[in-house]
Amino acid sequence: MTQHFGQHFLQIPGPSTVPDRVLRAISMPVIDHRGPEFADLAQTVLTGIKRIFRTRHPVLIFPGSGTGAWESAVVNLLAAGDTVLTVETGHFASQWRALTQKWGIEADHIPGNWRNWADPEAIRARLAADTDHKIKAVMVVHNETSTGVVSPIKAIREAIDAEGHPALLLVDAISSLGALPYEHDGWGADVTITSSQKGLMLPPGLSFIALSPRAIEAAENGGSVRSYWDWREMLAFNKTGYFPYTPATNLLYGLREVIMLLEEEGLDNVFARLDRLAAATRAAVKAWNLEILCENEAAHSSVLTAVIMPEGHDSDAFRHHVLSKYNLSLGQGLGRVKGRVFRIGHLGQCNELTLMATLSGIEMGLRNLQIPHAQGGLQAAMSLL
Ligand code: PLP
Repeated sequence: MTQHFGQHFLQIPGPSTVPDRVLRAISMPVIDHRGPEFADLAQTVLTGIKRIFRTRHPVLIFPGSGTGAWESAVVNLLAAGDTVLTVETGHFASQWRALTQKWGIEADHIPGNWRNWADPEAIRARLAADTDHKIKAVMVVHNETSTGVVSPIKAIREAIDAEGHPALLLVDAISSLGALPYEHDGWGADVTITSSQKGLMLPPGLSFIALSPRAIEAAENGGSVRSYWDWREMLAFNKTGYFPYTPATNLLYGLREVIMLLEEEGLDNVFARLDRLAAATRAAVKAWNLEILCENEAAHSSVLTAVIMPEGHDSDAFRHHVLSKYNLSLGQGLGRVKGRVFRIGHLGQCNELTLMATLSGIEMGLRNLQIPHAQGGLQAAMSLL
């Protein structure tokens, strides 16, 4: 194995690097999760996280990964034989659909080429054809982490409303919350799911579910058999400041610190910083004469950029090279684009110099492996910054 010195550059699109302040917060002694001190911590984070989702309604926090939160939405709202509408934006949208189908739910599907967003007009047309309102929910991934494409959630809500269709809107904001503008209430989402390890800059291990009053009502009156993921039980306990079972106490300390960090910088400033870094990344990729997977200018993600490898070159061999040579981790191509794209994460606490180091590693790797590219990527990124 290669011996590395100095800092590891974790530039995958999540998990993102955890700020030192957050690591220190997590290293607090574990406390009694049924004692008074815990209730203070829980109330602080349960209230604070609402400001990040921009909601007035409850947000649930489960120990678990984002996939668990996907399943929680399915079992609390749907039952075998129900129908949902899914949109194929990439690997994660496909995985969420597959999970739903395992529960015996019919997943009507709008296919996609993994290079564009979930089209509100296509959703509207599908709902218009559903005259007997069989579709119970529309499920969309906001930031498709496998492709670097962002879908227009507000416009999708408007498309649902334009048809007067009662479907709930379920949004995967797993890699966007805390990194891209998001308005749970303002955009009319019924369920928004995220997890700790991306824009929230925490280690993996927490998942979050923001609910609308309609989603809470639907979970009370329907859904499947559920136990661990039962929103009703979690809602009841959270009202008292506690959880039905042992919560991930130390990650909650970290979460309290993250909320402070995001609010000290100001959420809008975080979004603007990541927009600039993403624009600089795209400038570098274009100068290298490489192709960006996202083909819709309006849908570029500020969380990550997925880059297509030139024909005949394997993106995993490239990633392995920059990891062993420069201690730089880039995201792999997932599912259908495995071996064909690599993903540059520029989320979390990424700043100008982190990005420039990352782009340097990429440019040196391209040159070392004689992958066809033009000179000037770093210069283009620096000029933009
Ligand atoms: N959805 C999106 C958009 C993701 O990026 C990921 C993970 O990268 C997931 C779902 C799955 O989340 P987890 O790996 O936390 O289960």
